[in-house]
Amino acid sequence: MPQSIAIDGPAGAGKSTLGKALAEQLGFVYVDTGALYRAVGYYVWNKRGDKYTEDDVVADLQEIEIEQQLIDGHTEIYLNGLDISKDIRDEKISMVASRVSGFKEVRRFLLGLQRKLAEKSDVVMDGRDIGTVVLPNADIKIFLTASCEVRATRRKSQLEEAGKNATYDEVLQTLKERDHNDSNRQIAPLKSANDAHFFDNSEKSFEEALQELYELVREG
Ligand code: C5P
Repeated sequence: MPQSIAIDGPAGAGKSTLGKALAEQLGFVYVDTGALYRAVGYYVWNKRGDKYTEDDVVADLQEIEIEQQLIDGHTEIYLNGLDISKDIRDEKISMVASRVSGFKEVRRFLLGLQRKLAEKSDVVMDGRDIGTVVLPNADIKIFLTASCEVRATRRKSQLEEAGKNATYDEVLQTLKERDHNDSNRQIAPLKSANDAHFFDNSEKSFEEALQELYELVREG
């Protein structure tokens, strides 16, 4: 059985940067499940803008094929054969992803894909429901968090690096809204698994956090 490490937590907690680096150190494949929800959100947004119902989105799933590929150590996301890795990072798409992720059929659609990825290779998989729903038998579960202010500051820098502009207040507002949606939805809400290690990295540098996570995994 391949090994799996589940990392869950709120938006901007550092899941993808730390998850990617941890996977690299361990020689595991990194799976960013948020990118899969973003891919669905991206499709819906391009086709329908802000006006869609749950039934519309369920119908759209028939037209969607998502693939994750590792290219030169980077994870690229393909939607119907097109590389959309950069486009899905937009704040608008974050919100659509958060909305459509509350739809039962969307979660079902992506569940199989996520589990297949974990059956193929050793993975570090990050998301909101990995330790609770997707991989309840993961070898190690981590609930990664940081204060709202730290998360908004990091998120703003990430957006800037990607050439996208947003004020601190806008970023903070979107984070809070997404956390609220994600934590309060009926199906697979964001929450820590009972057997997860709680890890707050607000006060830690990237290197410190990575080192501690690595040790935590090595100790089992
Ligand atoms: O992780 P990221 O911020 O890219 O995720 C985008 C959105 O996708 C989240 O706000 C959440 O609504 C949804 N998501 C989810 N379950 C996951 C991963 C992401 O509902 N496992």
